Amino acid sequence: MNLTILLDKRPVGKPQLSDFKFIDEPIPEPGKGEILLKTSYVSVDPYLRGRMIDAKSYAQPFELQKAISSGVIAEVIASNHEGYLKGDFVSGLMAWSEYQKSDGSVLQKVNPSLAPLSAYLGILGMTGLTAYLGLTEIGKPQKGETLVVSGAAGAVGSVVGQIGKILGCRVIGIAGSYEKVEMLKSKFGFDEGINYKTTNNMKSAIEEKCPDGVDLYFDNVGGEISDGVLANINKFARIMVCGSISVYNNTSVPMGPRVESLLVKNSALMQGFIVGNYAPKFPTAIGQLSAWLKEGKLTYSETIVEGFDQIPQAFIDLFEGKNTGKMIVKI
Ligand code: NAP
Repeated sequence: MNLTILLDKRPVGKPQLSDFKFIDEPIPEPGKGEILLKTSYVSVDPYLRGRMIDAKSYAQPFELQKAISSGVIAEVIASNHEGYLKGDFVSGLMAWSEYQKSDGSVLQKVNPSLAPLSAYLGILGMTGLTAYLGLTEIGKPQKGETLVVSGAAGAVGSVVGQIGKILGCRVIGIAGSYEKVEMLKSKFGFDEGINYKTTNNMKSAIEEKCPDGVDLYFDNVGGEISDGVLANINKFARIMVCGSISVYNNTSVPMGPRVESLLVKNSALMQGFIVGNYAPKFPTAIGQLSAWLKEGKLTYSETIVEGFDQIPQAFIDLFEGKNTGKMIVKI
């Protein structure tokens, strides 16, 4: 049989296990021109929270009582498609199902001999691309500039900080535990770290760690952490608004300081982005990330949870900071 996870209820506040439903159905039969896929790894991502709300966004909301989907790595276990052989591995946006069939049209083949399969969901997948393209295309870092990264120990943030160092910036990361802050410095080469959970005044903490002010802010979390960082920006600062996980579970839009005059006074740029905007640049970006990995200039961390039944909990745990680096479920 074949387990699939449906969205049973739209979460209110923090997602709960009861918002998800497991159903068991027969394994589908691949038809002419189709392949049968067995799920190997599932990516759980903060942005899926937005798709659980019935509201207009850059991605369609999930439908109730329908399968949830995210980045998946799967193995071709039967093929009636001339482009795929049994034993091939593919990545793509796929359902949270143990098995599914596909016509192969929106899948990419991945090579397990070039990198571990899970890497195609993280450093060589959507989050690595987000880090590289957000930072280089909007931030355009210059040698000697100060880069602050929030959500710094996560999948995107840990890569942003390392790329900042490769490009010659001084890098300060903000994360949610002592252990994470230590890891930013020891594993990812950040210059300084701030534990936002033990910091009462983010504005002064940034002032202290960034005596020359903030030239670049890569924002993964939004909210009060960002208020403190923005209060320290320099002239011509670039603020890359990647995500705002600190407010994803809020039921109303939280109010904060108005930033308009801050942006005018500093001639600063604040730009939101979606990694998909840069799709034509994906091959070059993957080439650069792979080269840095090979040269040992870049490393990555993954939190791998095992078991199909653990997917909803792994997703919920993102909001508790239970991961370092990319959160992935191995099936
Ligand atoms: P991630 O950082 O690996 O995981 C989420 C992390 O967020 C947790 O580990 C936790 O770390 C932190 N967090 C959770 N609740 C928080 C809160 N209330 N305040 C501050 N930090 C909190 O996830 P990711 O995949 O790399 O995504 C990071 C951000 O980028 C998300 O906002 C996501 O939506 C966004 N994103 C955007 C794009 C795009 O195209 N724009 C693409 C990918 C991801 P701590 O222990 O440090 O709290």
